[in-house]
Amino acid sequence: MKKMKLVVVGNGMAGIRTIEELLKLDTSLYDITVFGSEPHPNYNRILLSPVLTGEQTLEDIILNDRSWYEEHGITLHMNSTVTRINRARKEVMTDDGKTARYDRLLLATGSKPFMLPVPGTDLDGVVTFRDIGDVNRMIEAAGRLKRAVVIGGGLLGLEAANGLAMRGMQVSVVHLGASLLDRQLDGAAAALLQGSLHERGLEFLMERQTEAILGNGQGAVRGIRFRDGGELETDLVVMAVGIRPNTDLADAAGIHTDRGVVVNDTLQTYDPSIYAVGECVSHRGMAYGLVAPLFEQAKVAANHLALHGIGRYGGSTTSTKLKVTGIDVFSAGEFMGGADTEAITLADPVGGVYKKLVIRDDRLIGACLYGDTVDGAWYFRLIREAKSIGELRENLMFGESSIGDTGHSGENSIAGMPDTTEICGCNGVCKGTIVKAIREKGLFTVDEVKKHTKAASSCGSCTGLVEQILINCIGGAADIKPKSEKAICACADYTHGELRKAIREQHLTSIPETMRFLEWRSPDGCATCRPALNYYLMSTWPGEARDDTQSRLINERAHANIQKDGTYSVVPRMWGGVTSPSELRRIADVADKYHVPMVKVTGGQRIDLLGIRKEDLPAVWKDLDMPSGHAYGKSLRTVKTCVGKEFCRFGTQDSTGMGIALEKDLVGMWSPHKVKLAVSGCPRNCAESGIKDIGIIAVDSGWELYVGGNGGIKTEVAQFFVKVQTHDDVLEYAGAFLQLYREEAFYLERTCHYLSRVGLEHAKARVVDDAANRAELYARLRFAISFEKDPWAERVEQASARREFENLTA
Ligand SMILES: Cc1cc2nc3c(=O)[nH]c(=O)nc-3n(C[C@H](O)[C@H](O)[C@H](O)COP(=O)(O)OP(=O)(O)OC[C@H]3O[C@@H](n4cnc5c(N)ncnc54)[C@H](O)[C@@H]3O)c2cc1C
Ligand code: SF4
Repeated sequence: MKKMKLVVVGNGMAGIRTIEELLKLDTSLYDITVFGSEPHPNYNRILLSPVLTGEQTLEDIILNDRSWYEEHGITLHMNSTVTRINRARKEVMTDDGKTARYDRLLLATGSKPFMLPVPGTDLDGVVTFRDIGDVNRMIEAAGRLKRAVVIGGGLLGLEAANGLAMRGMQVSVVHLGASLLDRQLDGAAAALLQGSLHERGLEFLMERQTEAILGNGQGAVRGIRFRDGGELETDLVVMAVGIRPNTDLADAAGIHTDRGVVVNDTLQTYDPSIYAVGECVSHRGMAYGLVAPLFEQAKVAANHLALHGIGRYGGSTTSTKLKVTGIDVFSAGEFMGGADTEAITLADPVGGVYKKLVIRDDRLIGACLYGDTVDGAWYFRLIREAKSIGELRENLMFGESSIGDTGHSGENSIAGMPDTTEICGCNGVCKGTIVKAIREKGLFTVDEVKKHTKAASSCGSCTGLVEQILINCIGGAADIKPKSEKAICACADYTHGELRKAIREQHLTSIPETMRFLEWRSPDGCATCRPALNYYLMSTWPGEARDDTQSRLINERAHANIQKDGTYSVVPRMWGGVTSPSELRRIADVADKYHVPMVKVTGGQRIDLLGIRKEDLPAVWKDLDMPSGHAYGKSLRTVKTCVGKEFCRFGTQDSTGMGIALEKDLVGMWSPHKVKLAVSGCPRNCAESGIKDIGIIAVDSGWELYVGGNGGIKTEVAQFFVKVQTHDDVLEYAGAFLQLYREEAFYLERTCHYLSRVGLEHAKARVVDDAANRAELYARLRFAISFEKDPWAERVEQASARREFENLTA
């Protein structure tokens, strides 16, 4: 049978995705010809931002190279713009004199960047941000010029501004509105974002209307002028004020357009031979500017081009993410809320976290997250599914991991997900598709999954989920690098182990020095690498490396645990779980004075004051006059004890005294993760020593030490480590083991995970079998702890530090 002719105008993301979908359904139906204005094969336009920052290259972002077109018998004309459609003759013509006949025509011409209608846009040094040509122009300008102005504080404008700043330019962002990303974020989140970008060196001129771009008399830009008469000098102007669907061709051919080429639910235009997909389209009055909806359109259009006639496109709910390394922003749905909605918000301006969830009729309809976006995909799923959130409501703000047992790395939650759950939002790939590809095609790596399903191949934020699906499907056969072989984050190629080694061997003592020496890709790092670096520096060079408090996780910065309503919980230290009438009286007085809504006894044998306002924290600490319990820290938490031989008739030793001594010995110790101890007076083990990082059990002839226990999400039973005779032995062996853990574990690795990585025998060889090494480890621990002060007492004393806790809305 003679093949029909399919001509595609636009060699971009939507057009080529439609062809890929079509080839999955039928390879025999069409001779395909593609025309593209750009001199490149199809590439991932989303990733132009990392190319601008220097994090990726053009080669990295090519989606279909020339050989792909050849393999599929597709005729590709690059650098060739279709200038006319003759609908009567079913022909297209190009600017370089080519003509092609079609039976079906697919318009996928994308968008054009909007240029402000002001004088000077034709000057040398005025650029847009749409394609590889624009990126190359910006990179070239950054190598030669100093100052840049980006007009537009939307997603593209901010990504351009960040990229140019990372290439060394002084960048100002000019924005017409009062807050950045005004279509993606509400005011509170936008203010946090502006603060973070300002810290990275970007300047902002808000509520400024550009009136003219000024020339230097020789055809190049010298500045811009605002409507209020003010001027700003610059060498480069990036125009990022929005996009307009590219309908030129359709308009000229008399195809109905209305803010886009108008299509029905099958992506057919008013001319039945002509389909349209992507940003050039207007569907039910909506034009989309993100890839996820375009890919949904591509699937439906392909189905109809393949003459299957199944499937309708009903419109899309979109979510957005800013691709500025180290700044996490996510929004989806109706996050602004309205009269008939309710909003749950969590705001911690000091910690840089803001979350807003918007609910209508018991359904989540919008989410806006800043600083902590790990649950973005989950919220997006709930919004799209539009199910009642009744039972989840209490825990909604705390994310998916707070709903039942999700296992240590989320494996269980992945296993429980239905096949229809969307994993990759950009490419619309569901769990079932990934599982099927892994099983049928025998895939072992994330790269292979990317190649076969496209999941994780666009913005990359679902890579972790894809890894978990691989593990879930093929277990140990999954070729996933363990943490010890993985780069710490996207900011650098070093593993945790390599970083520690470099810090030690090169005597690096500060975060900027480390980043400079190791040529960090992003100038300020991100929320993953900064806390880890801070810990590695502090633990390697105690007394020398300065604690960078801004690199601490939020609870450590506030020295209290943030709660779901934005208030804090305060847990004073009670050595070994023992308290006194006078401490209890002070706690009761504080609870009365600050109207503490809940006073609770914790599992760690202390008292928790819940619901304290942030601005009251220093006064509460002062009135309590007790040391911090470090209940918020990656540090020593508690030493739980039983009553022991002093009161219990089974007790063989003074477990309470031992616990108090251990707690006093270790207080102030920062560690890769939280550390909990327990001391029981006999093997009946009332203090639950078997599930602690270090558990100690008294026996008639001394003390048994167990290590690596964990009572958290997945219970781990502690392993026998050593039996010792005396009280001082317990302090030394426990301290030496903890110092080994402090020196060797990766940041955020609990003792059980550390031991499963290095092996119990390794720890025994260094602590139990090697007395000299044990003594040195213990001495190093004591030296490190000698610099630590009680953080509450310190903050009460420092009036300047107290301002940190004042209410920012005042
Ligand atoms: C810097 C940047 C960052 C982005 N980041 C994200 C993101 O994080 N997440 C997200 O979802 N989306 C993002 N987007 C948007 C996303 O890239 C677009 O939604 C998507 O590329 C649109 O696909 P399309 O095929 O409709 O248009 P395009 O990919 O623009 O393809 C259209 C192609 O058609 C060509 N063309 C036009 N007219 C003709 C003609 N007459 N003849 C021949 N060829 C023609 C154009 O040159 C172009 O190559 C970003 C866009 C940019 C520019
Ligand atoms: S662990 Fe033993 S000593 Fe301690 S309270 Fe229980 S029974 Fe008594």
